[in-house]
Amino acid sequence: MDDSVYANYPPPLTPEQQEYLVSTVKTWALHHGLCVRPAPTFIDKEKDPQGVLATNAPVTLFPSPFPKSAFEHAVAIQKAYNELYARIARDEAWLGKIIEDLIDADDFVANLWKVHLAVKSEGYVQPLSLGLFRSDYIPHRPPGSAESSLRQVEFNTISSSFGGLSALVAALHTDLLSLPPGNPIAYPPHPILKGNNPPENTAVPTLANGLADAHKAYGPSKFDSPLPLCILFIVQAGERNLFDQLELSTRLATFHKIPVFRLATADIQNHTSIPPSNPSRPLIYTPPHSPSTPFEVTTIYLRGFYGPGDYPNPATWAARTHLERSAAIKCPSVLSQLSGCKKVQQVLADPNADTDHLAHFLPNTDAQTIAKIRATFAPQYDLSTSGRGCELALNPSTAANHVLKPQREGGGNNIYRDAIPGFLRSMPEKDWKGWILMELIQPPEAARNMMLRSDGEVLSRHVISELGVFGTVLWRDDGEIVHNKQGGWLLRTKGKESDEGGVAAGFSSLDSIVLL
Ligand code: ADP
Ligand code: MG
Repeated sequence: MDDSVYANYPPPLTPEQQEYLVSTVKTWALHHGLCVRPAPTFIDKEKDPQGVLATNAPVTLFPSPFPKSAFEHAVAIQKAYNELYARIARDEAWLGKIIEDLIDADDFVANLWKVHLAVKSEGYVQPLSLGLFRSDYIPHRPPGSAESSLRQVEFNTISSSFGGLSALVAALHTDLLSLPPGNPIAYPPHPILKGNNPPENTAVPTLANGLADAHKAYGPSKFDSPLPLCILFIVQAGERNLFDQLELSTRLATFHKIPVFRLATADIQNHTSIPPSNPSRPLIYTPPHSPSTPFEVTTIYLRGFYGPGDYPNPATWAARTHLERSAAIKCPSVLSQLSGCKKVQQVLADPNADTDHLAHFLPNTDAQTIAKIRATFAPQYDLSTSGRGCELALNPSTAANHVLKPQREGGGNNIYRDAIPGFLRSMPEKDWKGWILMELIQPPEAARNMMLRSDGEVLSRHVISELGVFGTVLWRDDGEIVHNKQGGWLLRTKGKESDEGGVAAGFSSLDSIVLL
C-alpha cells in the first residue's frame, strides 16, 4: 500500500454513522470494563461523593496504522531488553556510579538511593526481583526517507501501565471490524481495514503470569506458623486507572487462584508488619476487613511510589524502606526502579562510551540482536557544563530538535524545543546534570484518527502513535534469569500538535493497531 491510502483514513463518517460508532464504543467500554474513574474536572467530587461513577477510557474510534516492520522489530528485542535491565539492576556498582552523579541534582533519586543503602547495610533477605517492563517507541521517519525505523522513547521499569486496557481496546476494535457479524458495517469500507484485525494482545496473561511465577518462586511461608500467601498491589489513593489494574488482579485470582489485595501507599504501615524476631523478615498483611486472617506477601506490585508526589512525608519513605527490607519479591526493587532513570538510557545510548555496555551486560546475546537494540537509540546527551549536550540545548536553533527530560515517570515532566534554553538558564548550572537532552523522534507524516475522550467529547485530528511492548523478567541476585517473556503491547495516540503522550496525564487516547 502506498502513502496515498493514509490520505483518506479513517473513512469519512456521515453524522448517523458517527453517532452509531460513538454510542457503540461508549456502551462497549462500560460493558467490558474499558473504563476509568471520571476526572474531577469532568465530574466534581460533590456530584459523586461516594465515588461510584466510571466512564469510558479515552479511546480512538478506529485502530491506527503502524509499520509492521517496526512492530516486529520491537517485539523481537523485548526479551533481550528485559535481560539488559535485569542485569543493570543487579549491578549495583555500575548503576551506583550513574546514580551518585544525579544525587546532588535530584532529591527524589537521592532518597531512593538512601532506601537502597539502608537496606543494603542491614542486608537484603530476598534474592529474587521481578520486572514488569514496557519499552516505548515512536517510528522515526525524517522527511525524505522512504521507510520508518524504530526509535525508543523510554524504557519503563516501574508501574508500566495500560496492559489491561490496551488488550480491551484491541478487542473493541476487533469487534467493530466484525459488527454486525456476517455483514460488518460499523466501519465504512476502507482498504486499510480490509481483513486487517489488530495483532493478538496477550498483555494480561503475560503480566499476570509474571506475577504468578514470582509468587510461586517465593516458596513456602516463612512465618513461624505458616500463613496463607498473597500478592499485594501497592496503589495510589483515588487511582483513576483502577480498571486497568483490575484486569491483572482478576486474572491472578480467577486463573492462577492467587489471593490479591490492594493497599494504598498511605496505609502500608497500618496494615503490614515484619515480625521483629524473624530473621527471614516475612511481610505480613492483615486485611482491615478481616483482622483474624493475616496473609504473608510473596510479591509486591507497585502501581504507585514512582514519583515524588507519592512521598508526601517522611512516613511514606519509611513505608518504602519497610517494603524493601521485607522478604517479599519486589516488582520493582529500588535498584530496578533506578535502572529506569532516563540517565541510564542516555548512558546506554552513548556512541562514545569507553566500554560497550550492551556487549558487557548481554554477553550471551547474538550480535544481530544487540545491533537491533542499538538501532532503537535516539541520540541523547548529558548536560555536563562543557559538553556537546549543553551546546545543543542552549542554542535555540538546535534546541528546536530536542526534548529535555528529568529523572521522572508518569508524563508531563519534559521540556520541549524552544523552551529548553530559557528553562536551563533559569536554574542553577549545578542542577543541569539531573536532566538529559534527547533528539526528537520524527514520526511519519501523520495519519488521522478520531478520539472519544472520557468526558464524551469526540475529536478528529492528525495523530501520532506511540507503541509500548510489554515484557516480564524474574531474576536472582546471583545473575540467574528464572523467567523471561515478551507478550502484549500498547498503542497510545495523541494529536500531532501535542508534545507529551500520557493517557493518564490526559494527552493521549488508547488505541490499537492495523499493521501495514
Ligand atoms: P515519562 O516517563 O514522563 O512518560 P517519556 O520519556 O515517555 O517520559 O516522555 C513523555 C512523552 O514525550 C512521550 O510519551 C512522547 O510522546 C514524548 N517524547 C519523549 N521523548 C521523545 C522524543 N525523543 N521524541 C519525540 N517525542 C518524545
Ligand atoms: Mg512515557
